[in-house]
Amino acid sequence: MKEAFKEAMSRFASGVTVVAARLGEEERGMTATAFMSLSLEPPLVALAVSERAKLLPVLEGAGAFTVSLLREGQEAVSEHFAGRPREGVALEGGRVKGALAVLFCRLHALYPGGDHRIVVGRVERVELGEEGPPLVYFQRGYRRLVWPS
Ligand code: FAD
Repeated sequence: MKEAFKEAMSRFASGVTVVAARLGEEERGMTATAFMSLSLEPPLVALAVSERAKLLPVLEGAGAFTVSLLREGQEAVSEHFAGRPREGVALEGGRVKGALAVLFCRLHALYPGGDHRIVVGRVERVELGEEGPPLVYFQRGYRRLVWPS
């Protein structure tokens, strides 16, 4: 059942985000695909963060976080913030530079979700980057959308 569950979930395509938070001097970022738009009024988003993630206590303590929506070509950024460090990747102003969009969120609620925590954020500000194709994750790899030219 566990293997079938993992295989089924690998067949669900998603965009890729980097979630980041700062608490005092400590700033942390983490790659996450378990992200969704939750509500329009009020504007809420939800994501699932592993109970073991170093980001979680920082995000909880800060009471605020950003979500950068990655664009095609930002595979190295995704890998870096998933624990496979790449040279020259860093957060700038608390978010990923060059992202398709960045959501600045206040922590709204936390719910248990098995080995993950469901984090709900209230979107207080949106920064739109240049339009373009997203970074897509599907069947354990980065994929490209066929994008109209
Ligand atoms: P670490 O593993 O220590 O940090 C992650 C990486 O980010 C490290 O390489 C670290 O050096 C770097 N880093 C952290 N902060 C900074 C900073 N301020 N400046 C520069 N570099 C920094 N996990 C989930 O819980 N939910 C998901 O939805 C999810 N989706 C994923 C999707 C994909 C495509 C991948 C590849 C992984 C996903 N993961 C998800 C797993 C998660 O990204 C990793 O387990 C991650 O390593 C957990 O991060 P951490 O907070 O424990 O800290």
